[in-house]
Amino acid sequence: MSLIVRTAPDQCRRCYSCVRRCPAKAIRVHEGQAQVIEERCLACGRCIKVCPRNAKKIVDNLPRAAALMAGGDAVVMLAPSFPAAFPEWRPLQLVAALRRAGFAAVHEVAFGAELVARAYERRYRDDPDRLTITTSCPAAVYYVEKYAAPLLPWLAPVFSPMAALGKALKVRLRPGCRTLFIGPCTAKIKEREDPQVAPWVDAVLTFPEVRLLLARHGVDPAACADEEFDPPRSRTGGIFPIPGGLARVASLPTDVLESRIHTTLGVDGFADAIEGLKLRVARGDLDQLEARFFDVLYCQGCTGGPLMNGEESLLKRKERVVAFVRGRPGRPGLEAWEDAMRALADLDLDRGFAADDQTGSAPSEAEIRQILARTGKIAPEDELNCRACGYRSCRDKAVAVHQGLAEVDMCLPYLVTKLEATVAKLHRSHEQLTEAQEQLIRSERLASMGQLAAGIAHEVNNPLGTVLIYAHLLLESAQGDDQLRADAEMIVHEANRCRSIVGGLLDFARQNKVQWGVVDVRELLDQTVTLARAQAAEAGAPVTFVVDAPADLPAASLDHDQMLQVLLNLVRNAIDVMPAGGTVTLAARHHADRAELSLTVSDTGPGIPPEHMKKLFSPFFTTKPVGRGTGLGLPICYGIVKMHRGGITARNNAPAPGATFEVRLPEEAVSCEP
Ligand code: ADP
Repeated sequence: MSLIVRTAPDQCRRCYSCVRRCPAKAIRVHEGQAQVIEERCLACGRCIKVCPRNAKKIVDNLPRAAALMAGGDAVVMLAPSFPAAFPEWRPLQLVAALRRAGFAAVHEVAFGAELVARAYERRYRDDPDRLTITTSCPAAVYYVEKYAAPLLPWLAPVFSPMAALGKALKVRLRPGCRTLFIGPCTAKIKEREDPQVAPWVDAVLTFPEVRLLLARHGVDPAACADEEFDPPRSRTGGIFPIPGGLARVASLPTDVLESRIHTTLGVDGFADAIEGLKLRVARGDLDQLEARFFDVLYCQGCTGGPLMNGEESLLKRKERVVAFVRGRPGRPGLEAWEDAMRALADLDLDRGFAADDQTGSAPSEAEIRQILARTGKIAPEDELNCRACGYRSCRDKAVAVHQGLAEVDMCLPYLVTKLEATVAKLHRSHEQLTEAQEQLIRSERLASMGQLAAGIAHEVNNPLGTVLIYAHLLLESAQGDDQLRADAEMIVHEANRCRSIVGGLLDFARQNKVQWGVVDVRELLDQTVTLARAQAAEAGAPVTFVVDAPADLPAASLDHDQMLQVLLNLVRNAIDVMPAGGTVTLAARHHADRAELSLTVSDTGPGIPPEHMKKLFSPFFTTKPVGRGTGLGLPICYGIVKMHRGGITARNNAPAPGATFEVRLPEEAVSCEP
């Protein structure tokens, strides 16, 4: 059998409408595309109706119909729902139009329905207690064969009206003819491929395709005069497409107080009846059921079929069908009709059914739990059963995942949670990126300042050397002249100050070489504290020093003196911002995960005002009074750390008071033994 309904590539947009509405769960979602699974599909056409993107396409039947017509003696078998499908034309105008298009004859399937109804009537009369499930609706038959196999023995072994008329035509009425069924049903396309039906029905066209066919042949039904169907004609068979029509035509007791006959309505009513019967078979109490005759229709009657185009209500469609059956002038008299029926009394309309079980293997409880856990459903309350995936419950969806029908990701609440986490992650990355960008801009700015500073320092260094030499000469020649000596000493002192500023500038500009050596970091911190204590005492600030370094801290490869200078600069600043005293903590950590050694100097001072943060490492930025600060301490730290291929940052300790300066050195710095 071929695939009747396909999904047009890339038109599906994960709404899962088809999954939700397919009672056979014959839709597999793969990479976001809902595809019809041929073996499971009933060809009922519900997915075509419910797809908001019109992504479901039925197979094109026109080429086969055209080939059939080209062969000559092609006859039409028109489904009885047709008066409701073409409201713009009178029903018999369509009959005429089909003849104009080239069909040798136009027969009504309503007569086939009457043949079938007679078979049901006999069956019921022979044994009214025998349970019967009608088989005129192919989608209903496929459902039982695939998903309710225990009910197979009760499927009425009777042809559908289409197959019955096809056989009557080919065997008795028009031997040698080729038959084309026209109707509102996609399942009929599948039924025609059934080996029991195929000899009697050569092709199937849907109502929308008939419009195209007539247009291609340049036939306008509106311009045709009414023409009656070719005989044999029906009397009441035309009401078959209306719910309850079969029972009425078969003269079964249809009174509402009569509960032996049950006519199902729509797919829900159908599924309700079939699942109820399945349950009874399983329990073994089928005999206790009062209803014995189940007239099952998958749609709301064929007038509610998937390819009944038009916007009219079901009521309006029913009215059109009934009006045609009642008011038709060509309706045969009872005698003529009985003659026609008698002539076909011995026509064998029996058929069989075979199980084609598609219920699939049921996963174990552990497997279900495992699948549920993949979308964060651990406890029962995590199972929201929101149906957004198209399945009735989270467990049903887990079963579908197990059977390869659904994708794990089809869970909306799970996707939303995942999306939120991704957004949060992106937000964090964005913040980190912004921070990194700012750092880069700062580094570039400092690098160009460094170049400028190095240039100036070089230029100033030589004349400064000359000033110092001559100042010393002056000092030597000033013996006895106190004033001159004092002036010369001042020149030497200030020139030395200039030299230390120039030295600082050169450090900042990374012009000095690193003297790599193996350094015990804890010792380095202790040494810093020893020197800093003297500075604090000199400043008169009651500062407590804390060294915090793990015992297993690996030794580092550093320039001992330069790193000592960095730490001392940082500690000196910390002492300076705490004139009334406080605590300075020097800590060292080896972050194996980040492949870094970090050295931090934290104080309990006032912290750094936000507007100062970006300027801290710029040369000559200082908030200290003239003579106390040069604004070169942090730039020097920056230069030295850069020479060690590391980085230095400052942050406030909020909510705790004070600031922390962190020096981060790369893994190479700690990859050596002491
Ligand atoms: P200087 O010490 O000569 O001012 P620095 O480059 O060492 O130069 O420091 C620049 C400025 O950074 C300081 O004047 C001060 O405003 C600020 N600063 C440095 N360390 C701290 C700290 N621990 N707390 C608050 N501000 C600080």
